[in-house]
Amino acid sequence: MSVLSDPGAVKALLDRHGLRLSKGLGQNFLINPSVCPRMAAASGAADSAGVLEIGPGIGVLTWELAQVSQKVVAVELDKRLFPLLEETLSDCGNVELVQGDILQMDLARLAEEKFGGQPFCVCANLPYYITTPVIMALLEGGLPLHSVTVMVQKEAAQRLCAPPGVRACGAISVSVHYHSQPKLLFSVSRGSFLPPPHVDSAVIRFDMRPAPPVAVDQESALLQVAQGAFAQRRKTAANSLSASLGLSKPLVEEALLSIGVPANVRAEQLTLKQFAALSNRLQLSGGSQK
Ligand code: SAM
Repeated sequence: MSVLSDPGAVKALLDRHGLRLSKGLGQNFLINPSVCPRMAAASGAADSAGVLEIGPGIGVLTWELAQVSQKVVAVELDKRLFPLLEETLSDCGNVELVQGDILQMDLARLAEEKFGGQPFCVCANLPYYITTPVIMALLEGGLPLHSVTVMVQKEAAQRLCAPPGVRACGAISVSVHYHSQPKLLFSVSRGSFLPPPHVDSAVIRFDMRPAPPVAVDQESALLQVAQGAFAQRRKTAANSLSASLGLSKPLVEEALLSIGVPANVRAEQLTLKQFAALSNRLQLSGGSQK
């Protein structure tokens, strides 16, 4: 929506509603007119039952999503924005605003209630402070999700897209690649926001996999092993796993050797297949094994 990309008009709108932006809620609004249409087009919103937006802010991305999607459900935490959103989205009959904290919501119930359990997608310019928990909740939630298109800090985007086995990866990369195929779509400079943040951003899309690429006995164990292996990144995977999961070091080293990797391997050197084999081998049951 062109008026929401004009910094002067946005400031006047916020003033008229007596609103001061909250840093704590990550309120950096997009004012670059080319970004929202690109995100909406890339999100797959046109081809699914609907789209869930997290944090509509003043509605600039919401409005674009409403042009391409059957239904937009936008969850916003900040109550103060609702009168303003009613105004900016007054011509969008297919938008439903929901007030609440996305981290506290039962996402499976929300998906059932709002999209009738049909495949939906997510598209959002995420507040940076909830990037990891939101992405984990979406990927690990067993939701009927088609894809997740999000704007995040550039460094976070690189880590999220890095496959297990390369230096830039982390525990979250294991979950990301197990559940989806991530793709870095485009970069967005800090000057594209009002007010500008201290870092640049990037838009990434996770295309959910119809079936996992590796076989694991217990999905929760895969995540536990990944988090344990990366908990002390500077140490070997065996040291980190034994310290964080309370496993004996010889037991972990034996498991590593049995899957064909050296006992002194580091977490960032393990591929997704090796993480899967290791989690199957260690057979975690929620408790510790000494
Ligand atoms: N979509 C808008 C845009 O692109 O200009 C705003 C994005 S702004 C980076 C993040 C938005 O998320 C803010 O409107 C903020 O109030 C909202 N928000 C912050 N924490 C939230 C939470 N836990 N649940 C839902 N919304 C949240």
